Amino acid sequence: MKAKLSIAALFFATLFLYNCSSDGDIPREEPIDRSANLLSTGDSAADILTNENFDRLLIEIAHVEGFRPTAEAIDLLTSFFAERTFKLEVQYQYRALASPGEETLTLQEVASLENDNRTQYNDGRTLAIYIYFADAPSDGDDEDAGLVTLGAVYRNTSMILYERTIRQLAGRSALITNADVEAATLTHEFGHLLGLVDLGTPEVNPHEDPAAENHCLTDGCLMRAELEFGGGLMGLMEKRAAKGMAQVPVLDAECINDLQAIGGR
Ligand SMILES: [Zn+2]
Ligand SMILES: [Zn+2]
Repeated sequence: MKAKLSIAALFFATLFLYNCSSDGDIPREEPIDRSANLLSTGDSAADILTNENFDRLLIEIAHVEGFRPTAEAIDLLTSFFAERTFKLEVQYQYRALASPGEETLTLQEVASLENDNRTQYNDGRTLAIYIYFADAPSDGDDEDAGLVTLGAVYRNTSMILYERTIRQLAGRSALITNADVEAATLTHEFGHLLGLVDLGTPEVNPHEDPAAENHCLTDGCLMRAELEFGGGLMGLMEKRAAKGMAQVPVLDAECINDLQAIGGR
């Protein structure tokens, strides 16, 4: 994942939204409690994996107009949930948004867009997750060096995919499709929401890459650090395609071990 943000303070003042009537100070609507969705990445790992507190996942897919992810990638994400979690019900809600008109996006801007655009929060037995598909690249990208960011997580139930960057990258390969890059990025970033590696979910056996914090040491694992960046992911997927394997990498035994230890399938 990208650098962890300390933006909790920024949002503290807006945890509760009141819609006050003009003729008194009694709120007209119940406040929306967003606090459970403003925790750190990895904090909801067990809640995503098990049915103890939540048995339903509601994934809000907010995409800039024209940047909706492929149905194929979302199907692969659904299979990932079926393989790794005990959730019986996963629902998707799509929302098309106008472009924010930014040339690049910092994670602070992404978080503030979420504040404006997210409509789904935890409710009863439903755990809500928000994914934003952007029409602008990450501000840290260095295209000349091939270091382009494909996705990031920045809280316990928040994720961004740089969809424009994803499409540009997939467009350069005859072997790899948009859906492949989307699915690999979605599942890698979900690995982080599930606390991998040592991002809130303890390691059963040490396998964190000493050279890349919160990423896996095992060659070819979905949680390898190079999956976050364009060149590395494409190289890995093309190698898999050449061997006749499915393009999208999967979790290795160590990462699966960690998830099973906190209630994963
Ligand atoms: Zn990562
Ligand atoms: Zn791994």
